[in-house]
Amino acid sequence: MEKSLTDIKGIGKKRAEILETMGVKTPEDLLEFLPRDYVDLTKITPISEVEDEQTVLVSGTVCSDIQTKYTGKIALYIFEVSDDSPEQFGYPSTVRVTLFNQKFTADKLSRGTRVYLYGKAQVFGRFADMKSPKVETDYEYGLRAIYPLKAGISRRLISNSLKCLLFGSMQKLPDIRSEGMVTAEIEDALPLPMREKYRLCPAKQAFLDIHFPTDLSQVQNARKRLAFEELLLFQICLRMMKKRIKQQPAPKLEKKDLRPFQKALPFTLTEAQRRVIEEAMKDMTREVPMSRVVQGDVGSGKTAVAAALCYFAFQNGGQACLMAPTEILAIQHFNDLEPLLAKFHIVVALMTGSTPKKEKSTIKTALSQGKIHLIIGTHSLIEEDVIFQNLTLAVTDEQHRFGVNQRAALSAKGKNGLCPHVLVMSATPIPRSLAMILYGDMDLSVIDQLPPGRKKVSTFLLDSEYNRKMYGYVAEEVNRGNQAYVVCPLVEEGENINLKAVESFAEELKKDYLPPEKVKVGYMHGKMPPKLKDQVLKDFAENKINLLVSTTVIEVGVNVPNATVMIIQNAERFGLSQLHQLRGRVGRSDKKSYCFLISDAKNPETRERLNAFCRNNDGFEISKTDLQLRGPGDFFGNRQHGLPPFKIADLVNDMDLFLSAREAADALMADPQWHKQPENQALKHKAAKLFLLADRQTKSANTI
Ligand code: ADP
Ligand code: MG
Repeated sequence: MEKSLTDIKGIGKKRAEILETMGVKTPEDLLEFLPRDYVDLTKITPISEVEDEQTVLVSGTVCSDIQTKYTGKIALYIFEVSDDSPEQFGYPSTVRVTLFNQKFTADKLSRGTRVYLYGKAQVFGRFADMKSPKVETDYEYGLRAIYPLKAGISRRLISNSLKCLLFGSMQKLPDIRSEGMVTAEIEDALPLPMREKYRLCPAKQAFLDIHFPTDLSQVQNARKRLAFEELLLFQICLRMMKKRIKQQPAPKLEKKDLRPFQKALPFTLTEAQRRVIEEAMKDMTREVPMSRVVQGDVGSGKTAVAAALCYFAFQNGGQACLMAPTEILAIQHFNDLEPLLAKFHIVVALMTGSTPKKEKSTIKTALSQGKIHLIIGTHSLIEEDVIFQNLTLAVTDEQHRFGVNQRAALSAKGKNGLCPHVLVMSATPIPRSLAMILYGDMDLSVIDQLPPGRKKVSTFLLDSEYNRKMYGYVAEEVNRGNQAYVVCPLVEEGENINLKAVESFAEELKKDYLPPEKVKVGYMHGKMPPKLKDQVLKDFAENKINLLVSTTVIEVGVNVPNATVMIIQNAERFGLSQLHQLRGRVGRSDKKSYCFLISDAKNPETRERLNAFCRNNDGFEISKTDLQLRGPGDFFGNRQHGLPPFKIADLVNDMDLFLSAREAADALMADPQWHKQPENQALKHKAAKLFLLADRQTKSANTI
């Protein structure tokens, strides 16, 4: 195959540059640059059978002059086309074509020219009108691939380049598509037995069929084959990552009695919490590093699991760190865990971006001397000059805010080259099958049980005209000693004024609905100085503030069990998983809690989405729906393995393929010598390329 794009006829330096911005850097990339849709050019409709509002392909000869008219600056080219279909009364016999500003096309036409027209028709008696149809004097029979294009890169260029690559020439399709015409040397990454087992076509066939199909079943088969390969490579890479982690030595811990810790807790651990702690402790008693993700619905008690494991590390003479995605959360963890662990003489410290320099350096020194046993903080914990005496366990909370890269940086902080055990607590519960696939580089534990006594948070969708009634109810709740949150979407200056900005909304509430002698209203947003945020949160935790108006800075992890009402303004602006996180801020005790979604959105789909959310309290279910609605890109945000996003496969619709690919990867790698077998060489090379890419991204992110 051609070595570089510019070896292909029609692609010069300039076009190659544009192609690169489209993710196409090499001829292989071009083969994998997939159509986003197909236009059916297999069926020519006789003009007499053209129906109103139908998109059709007709063929005929130009039977009038080409008239040119101007309206303002627009040039109209108007002509008529007829075919041989017999004229029938009441049916169209002529197509009347109008082209706008298409001089280039019009110039090629004159009376008697044979043309093909593709587009939407409108029928008026004898005439079928087509405005701006695609006009060709010569056309290729078949399904036509439509690509996502950019200025300077036409469909024809892509198509011709692909023909060059696949067939070594640019002939027309019906001739070229005959059996065995793909002349390119295309390496098949999938070994034959695997292709046979999963009924997948060869790579050559797949590229031919996806770019130049004659029917849609070919497209489906080709897509399946390419998606399978993509998923298989992904799985292989995750396994390589896992293997690499597991090759490092880790501090091997001794089994310890956790009962003293359990006794110190104000509650009894749930069965599920205990099981997850067991699973993690078992990992930590091996000499390979733990790499485990803990999934659990909001409020399932992940923090207590983390605390238990920090205790376990300490009993083994090791240090631990707990990294949170926001300063608020770090502070909260510190406030929760410090008093608990101090009972065991575990020294806990807090270090965030706003810790004063002097204090920071004191902490760092103490940390390097082993005088601090657990450090809680934000990203600042992974800074290079944070040195541990004996880092044994690294916990990251609500990991969707963290990349794998930061985790890797943490791993490098162990003692004498020992890699600390890593525990990741995920914020968004996702269905188990999906988690097994996406976290294939880690082991998985699920807290599938909520602490006892939790009541379902009753959730209602309300129009803003209910505000008065609802805030009346909130005032009653406050009167009973309970607390409430109001969440407003983040607003940038000048954006839609209907959206409730935090500060002004808090003022409005005080003025209109919640008199200060009855309800103390406070507010908080991300741009406030950390000290102030801390103060507000403390006041709220101590019920000096009864109602907190906030942006989504409180979304993840904030824990004030006395809060029983969550009001979400402009609820239509939030994704379902995010709504679930927000709702998870209430219902954290045995008190009955409520969530009100306020939305004036009229769109029926939006209302149905929000109504479905009101009916459902299960985070795993909600994330599944969310994933279906929004697609994985948005859903996972920055969750990274460093691996690029899927080009072909789709997390929602390709679940079966995912499972097959996983099975195939398991079977393949069960043989430790797999990468030495001749039939696996192509696969190995592709996987290694992807792995290196992920590795490079990980490394470069580490230096930030
Ligand atoms: P999340 O899993 O969302 O991080 P948290 O760890 O913040 O949940 O716990 C939510 C609340 O439940 C906290 O107030 C915590 O003290 C409490 N909690 C945790 N485990 C239990 C338990 N086994 N029994 C009762 N309450 C618990
Ligand atoms: Mg939490």
